Amino acid sequence: MADNLNKTSELSSDEQEHLDEQFMLMALKEAKLAYKEDEVPVGAVLVSADGVILASAHNTAEHGLHALAHAETVAMSMGAISLEQKRLWDCTLYVTLEPCTMCAAAISFMRIKRLVYGAANPKGGAVEHGLRFFDNPACNHKPLLTKGVLSEECGCLLTDFFRSKR
Ligand SMILES: [Zn+2]
Repeated sequence: MADNLNKTSELSSDEQEHLDEQFMLMALKEAKLAYKEDEVPVGAVLVSADGVILASAHNTAEHGLHALAHAETVAMSMGAISLEQKRLWDCTLYVTLEPCTMCAAAISFMRIKRLVYGAANPKGGAVEHGLRFFDNPACNHKPLLTKGVLSEECGCLLTDFFRSKR
């Protein structure tokens, strides 16, 4: 596994798919932590080009410092600090839910190389829904995109959460 993790650029598509699922499982773990904290259960994991996990985070928009603390923005901030870099050129961001407008813009500003997400978000998403930020002329950097990784697991957690709120 360690060997594979260090050679992400040379992986076959099967190996890449497997690796994507492993990292998404870690993002799901983060989402479950958010659920326990009564936050909308979204988790994210930031991975370097070498397959090293730089940061993992979950949504803390309700009980954290402020409403900008979505899983993606927290993970990217942590990653930039740990790399001592302003931008995250070679990194892949895994997130359990299609990013919102703010996070899609932040992903673009941070120059994330590849975005992998789980469940689609027809209501609040801004990648394949809504604003479709990466296809907008205002967007200067569009990441490579993989969607639908463990989408059922990622989506079920959200459905459960909102059902419990009714
Ligand atoms: Zn967001």
